[in-house]
Amino acid sequence: MPTSRGGGGQEHDQPTILHRGAGVGGGDSGDNKGGPRQWWVPGPVVVGAGPSGLATAACLKARGVPSLVLDKDSCVAASWRHRTYERLRLHLPRCFCQLPLAPFPPGTPTYPTRDQFVAYLDDYARAFSIDLRLGARVRTAAYDAAIGFWRVTVDEDAEDGGATATEFVSRWLVVATGENAEPAWPEGVEGMDGYRGVAMHTSSYKKGDEFRGKNVLVVGCGNSGMEVSLDLCNNGAKASMVVRDKLHVLPREILGISTFGLSVFLLRWLPIKRVDSLLLFLSRLILGDTEKYGLARPKTGPLQIKSSTGKTPVLDIGALRKIKNGEIKVVPAIKRLTENGVEFIDGHKEDFDAVIFATGYKSNVPSWLKEQEFFSHVDGFPRKPFPHSWRGKNGLYAAGFTRKGLMGTSYDALRIAGDIADQWTEAFCEPHCY
Ligand SMILES: Cc1cc2nc3c(=O)[nH]c(=O)nc-3n(C[C@H](O)[C@H](O)[C@H](O)COP(=O)(O)OP(=O)(O)OC[C@H]3O[C@@H](n4cnc5c(N)ncnc54)[C@H](O)[C@@H]3O)c2cc1C
Repeated sequence: MPTSRGGGGQEHDQPTILHRGAGVGGGDSGDNKGGPRQWWVPGPVVVGAGPSGLATAACLKARGVPSLVLDKDSCVAASWRHRTYERLRLHLPRCFCQLPLAPFPPGTPTYPTRDQFVAYLDDYARAFSIDLRLGARVRTAAYDAAIGFWRVTVDEDAEDGGATATEFVSRWLVVATGENAEPAWPEGVEGMDGYRGVAMHTSSYKKGDEFRGKNVLVVGCGNSGMEVSLDLCNNGAKASMVVRDKLHVLPREILGISTFGLSVFLLRWLPIKRVDSLLLFLSRLILGDTEKYGLARPKTGPLQIKSSTGKTPVLDIGALRKIKNGEIKVVPAIKRLTENGVEFIDGHKEDFDAVIFATGYKSNVPSWLKEQEFFSHVDGFPRKPFPHSWRGKNGLYAAGFTRKGLMGTSYDALRIAGDIADQWTEAFCEPHCY
């Protein structure tokens, strides 16, 4: 059984907190007549071993509550390890990205690299001895009102190469599968099937040197689109970037202070509109008029957009300079893919060796969670926005769905752990009078 404790993937024979059968639903895996094997988990089941799941498990542990963390991949931090590009660094300074109870180690740069962040998460899981069940893809999770428990069905790789089903039964379910669980492809791109070049999503992009000397189109101009375009350029590819909508580009730092940190500080004293005006004024001084280069700004300010839609402004780490000097070409939206390239909405056609879709990600919660009151089945996010997005009914929780990055993750982890710990103490530690 692929269970392990801590980071990386140390194997343990048995998870310490599982009790087979244990009377829940009367099932014991041994003679369950072809149904899934059943395990009762005394503490919460946490789905997802990314930063949000690990932080929640660590905070629970610190409050004396055991939990079991499930992940479909064979390691912790799989999104960062396997679905990001090599040159990625945290977009925000490390002080806004560290998880509760454990700062980054001394010597970590202000913007940790992907590998440094992954190592931090491995160490984090190890330091808190988090109980992990890896290679365990949650197929369904549903609340069984008859017994007042969540039933979480998991597909696990079996030794014979097939898959076995296991059901975990727990009083609490923490959803930590991430805002970015699946790549989001644009809908109905005409000609995709007939395109003979490489078509990929940024989640599979690793590094630019595979594209040296190639003509590459990047579809999308958020942080990923900008960074991939920059990486392509730095590795000798010819990059074009589709800019369809208006967007805010801000410098990553203003006078040596992180733009994000400055915003957080100013918001303590000033209304959001005033902070936006100030940010835009300073950005114009530092970056110039981005509209001149095909990057028109929306009328609403960057922080107001972030707060109302969750859409993050681009924090420039060098792509804008390449756009200004023409190394990255800004192009309009695509109408369709042709056999060898693309036809744009303005009618002009161009050949491309590769088209990389930097079109974002989506939640996968609706595909497995049988619950629609707390989580929306449309976008897979909690229906109530931050700060009310962390707790549903019947022991259901959401960690990492605040649209506020890792700061939101920390907030959720602490709140969830506190809430469950109170119930745990009441149920198991306080004397009861019968
Ligand atoms: C390119 C990029 C850069 C970012 N940079 C920053 C930054 O600098 N600062 C910041 O604050 N935020 C940043 N974010 C946003 C966010 O903080 C990260 O995406 C972070 O990884 C979210 O953590 P998470 O644990 O919620 O989700 P994830 O890291 O995605 O972890 C979710 C886990 O759930 C598992 N899973 C999914 N479905 C199932 C299932 N059905 N069964 C079992 N397991 C499942 C996945 O394998 C994964 O391990 C960035 C996001 C991206 C995409």
